[in-house]
Amino acid sequence: MSELSDLYQEVIVDHSKRPRNMRRPADATHAADGHNPLCGDSISVFVTLRDGRVEDVGFEGRGCAISVASASLMTDMIKGKTVAESRAIFQAFHRMVTGKDELPDEGLDKLAAFEGVRDFPVRVKCATLAWHTLQAALEGRAQPISTE
Ligand code: ZN
Repeated sequence: MSELSDLYQEVIVDHSKRPRNMRRPADATHAADGHNPLCGDSISVFVTLRDGRVEDVGFEGRGCAISVASASLMTDMIKGKTVAESRAIFQAFHRMVTGKDELPDEGLDKLAAFEGVRDFPVRVKCATLAWHTLQAALEGRAQPISTE
């Protein structure tokens, strides 16, 4: 196993220490809870959807640096996007961290920092937890999401 520290690029450290949008928007219209029992990550995602667009998004919870940084970067990334656009970003992100793409999609911007996660299958669940939870929130699924 190579150095896990390779994972902790500057952008991940920054967002895990100072998470953006770690709050529940007062006018949230959609929400879901996500759990990753393998690591102990537990994240709730809140979305204010207006005319098919993510007007506001926030999250609460706790977890490892990877899961918190991923949730933080996700909220930064999808604010202002349509539901279809946010789903497309999630799909590109998922392809990258599961190693199916040779190079990260340029549109992923800072999310490319998570590319190294693909070498650590356990960490893929941490990195994608917030995204799976977001999808559940947008689709109005009531059941909590579990990566197991
Ligand atoms: Zn984790």
